[in-house]
Amino acid sequence: MIDGHVHLEKGPLNKEYVLEFVDEAINKGIDELQILDHSHRFKEFEAMYETMKKHGGKQKEWLDHDFRNSLNEYLGLIDECKKLDLPVKLSFGLEVCFNDSYIDFLKEIFNKFHFDFLVGSVHSVFNIAYDSSWSIEELWKKYSTDEIYYEYFKQSFSLIESGLFNQIGHPDTIKMFNYYPSFDYLAYYDKLASLANKHHVKVENNTGCYYRYNHKDKGLAKEVLEIFKKNNCEMISVSDAHVPKDCGNYIKDIFEMTYK
Ligand SMILES: [Zn+2]
Ligand SMILES: [Zn+2]
Repeated sequence: MIDGHVHLEKGPLNKEYVLEFVDEAINKGIDELQILDHSHRFKEFEAMYETMKKHGGKQKEWLDHDFRNSLNEYLGLIDECKKLDLPVKLSFGLEVCFNDSYIDFLKEIFNKFHFDFLVGSVHSVFNIAYDSSWSIEELWKKYSTDEIYYEYFKQSFSLIESGLFNQIGHPDTIKMFNYYPSFDYLAYYDKLASLANKHHVKVENNTGCYYRYNHKDKGLAKEVLEIFKKNNCEMISVSDAHVPKDCGNYIKDIFEMTYK
């Protein structure tokens, strides 16, 4: 079983911390881990978040505390880990906050720095995070739900079409606060599915929303999952763990619906 999205976010970039995830993976019967962290951990990406910082408030406070490492530090850790002989297969990448204004910026970075895989995720709409403590006041109450969903899909399509990513992160977490649009948004998942196939992008079935944010769905919404299956998308089971104890969370529960 694979857990294809596990964050080093809350700990240092060292081997000992990576091994805590490996131990937990073994406990949960996981034999393959894709380890990553957010682009906003690394200084090289800071310029990409200027517009989000300009929004001010809690969003700025949050971003002001990040960008604490360099990509070379991370690549050093990756080299070290790859020398280890472990019972769990490890690969290393990034989860990149996607915004179509920064495609060229990202291309330049990924021409210089190489990873085993890259996950692209839409985390913000109109430069405001849609899933954070300030999102209801700052985004969901200020814009119409339809507008937010339209922009979310526009960004998601362009993420896939950019050709930069192997995997799209949590493609339906926009449902996080249970706001749903008035239009037939499932048709947009049909388009997302065919684009993912065309560009060879894996689609995540991500359990993070369930145990980190108490959403009712243990992974993708049933209707969205059915669309990905119908389109024969390549899917991947992921926990989105932010700490070692969450590594592999609920992967067993979603394994069958993801792969069978
Ligand atoms: Zn994410
Ligand atoms: Zn994540």
